[in-house]
Amino acid sequence: MMVYDDNNVFARILRGEIPCRKVYEDEHTLAFHDINPQAPIHILVIPKGAYVSMIDFTERASDVEIAALFRSVTKVAEIAGVSAEGWRLLSNIGINGGQEVPHLHIHIFGGRKLGPMIA
Ligand code: IMP
Repeated sequence: MMVYDDNNVFARILRGEIPCRKVYEDEHTLAFHDINPQAPIHILVIPKGAYVSMIDFTERASDVEIAALFRSVTKVAEIAGVSAEGWRLLSNIGINGGQEVPHLHIHIFGGRKLGPMIA
């Protein structure tokens, strides 16, 4: 499993060291626009805690943090205006999953009819 690196880009965004286009924030989560959008709406939702991926998160996070992340994802889809038409959530995990940033993030895609899942 990847080791948590305090200097990963999302940790730096959480510390306010680099800017983001914020969509939503609460006690446990932050959501911001992806810098390289793959759909008209492409937002990332992250927990504020230091978790590498879903594996780490489900092992170490509190039930409150886990619930907060999933509530935040749904709320962000509503804020982004994609709820009614449909959208997709995705989380890349580890090397085979294509994860680039080692801080858990959930992608929200929407704003157009999405293609099939890519294997
Ligand atoms: P992963 O492949 O699931 O780890 O996705 C990482 C995502 O983070 C990619 O979609 C990138 O475009 C996005 N990303 C990388 N750096 C930044 C940033 O500074 N702000 C917003 N999104 C970023």
